[in-house]
Amino acid sequence: MPSVSRSLFEATQEVIQQALKKLGYSDATYELLREPLRVLTVRIPVRMDDGSVKVFTGYRVQHNDAVGPTKGGIRFHPDVTEEEVKALALWMSLKAGIFELPFGGGKGGIVCDPRTMSLGELERLSRGYVRAVSQIVGPAKDIPAPDVYTNAQVMAWMYDEYSRIREYDSPSFISGKPIVLGGSRGREKATALGVVIATREAAKTLGMELAGSRVIVQGFGNVGSHVAEILHAEGAKVVGISDAGGALYKPDGLDIPHLLDRRDSFGMVTNLFKNERIPNEELLTKECDILIPAAIENQIREDNADQIRARIVVEAANGPTTLEATRILDRRGILVIPDILANAGGVTVSYFEWVQNNQGFYWTEEEVNRRLAQMMVAAVHKVLGMAKSHQVDTRLAAYMVGIRRLAEAVQLRGWV
Ligand code: GLU
Repeated sequence: MPSVSRSLFEATQEVIQQALKKLGYSDATYELLREPLRVLTVRIPVRMDDGSVKVFTGYRVQHNDAVGPTKGGIRFHPDVTEEEVKALALWMSLKAGIFELPFGGGKGGIVCDPRTMSLGELERLSRGYVRAVSQIVGPAKDIPAPDVYTNAQVMAWMYDEYSRIREYDSPSFISGKPIVLGGSRGREKATALGVVIATREAAKTLGMELAGSRVIVQGFGNVGSHVAEILHAEGAKVVGISDAGGALYKPDGLDIPHLLDRRDSFGMVTNLFKNERIPNEELLTKECDILIPAAIENQIREDNADQIRARIVVEAANGPTTLEATRILDRRGILVIPDILANAGGVTVSYFEWVQNNQGFYWTEEEVNRRLAQMMVAAVHKVLGMAKSHQVDTRLAAYMVGIRRLAEAVQLRGWV
């Protein structure tokens, strides 16, 4: 859906412009930061299992490297577009800014449907992508990671391919690797754990507790399934979940461990409950205290924002709420914890992984989680503080916190 992706990118530019204006930066700063510095489009020929050759299109976008090398995931999805990857790269810059990571934003994507591909085809596609972008990526240039429909196995192939090309072992080229290949303990659940910590802090500001709260989690993939798992363990009542096939809703709480157990490798589980299944759309407007969209973009829009019945919306996915919908939720007094704040636990632990790879010394999971929690709590209060002091909505506040350091860096380097 190119038109949707385009408006996502344009919406991002709009908020960046507002944020820079509020902070008193020049038009030239906006002119530089509104577009990525580099966009590479590649064509990747892959030998399919039936002997035919299929050519895939991929992208790598580097928003800005004034603060440090760019960083961000690679997504495998049939709807990937250049505009979408550009928006996602910009968001990575903002996440790095909020969490004070020494990175700029980057992002990659391949137009493909991994659900219809064999492991061998996926491996050849992953390796082909690395060969195609190898000139512009690297441990001190641009560091990829997992995103929608990519995982530790895909990272392992890409790490291996990059090390072969460079002819030296390069674990810090990519994060989200399996632990035996230099991955960080805690990385797999980091985004979800960060989301839960952000949710807890947000709930506290409204005098609510996680234990006993009714939560809906949309999406059961890399992020959503772990969010549901951790929340359930914390005593929250997960009343709704969903995957690409549909949603389940049960007012007295779902049996999350059972559902986790039954899902397939793509996180699909609702197809086992065909009689109880409801449409994804319907789940979003069901009764709950906390709504956590953890799937893809543009889920809460102008046409359904009025019907959201949660007190808090925590954006575990990137871009699940449109700008118009954000305004409606804000007007209705629903607290929104924006994506670039809520889901940045992933890139934060990716940063820890890069640090550990560079120093060759590995931390315990407790150490990783302790540092993550510390940074997450600080970030939530920084953003909510900015919203309060400037009387702006939480999304604009997050953008202001996120863009400030980058704006300062491009100025100090003499770029504007
Ligand atoms: N893909 C994740 C994100 O959107 C993680 C990126 C990373 O770890 O570099 O934040």
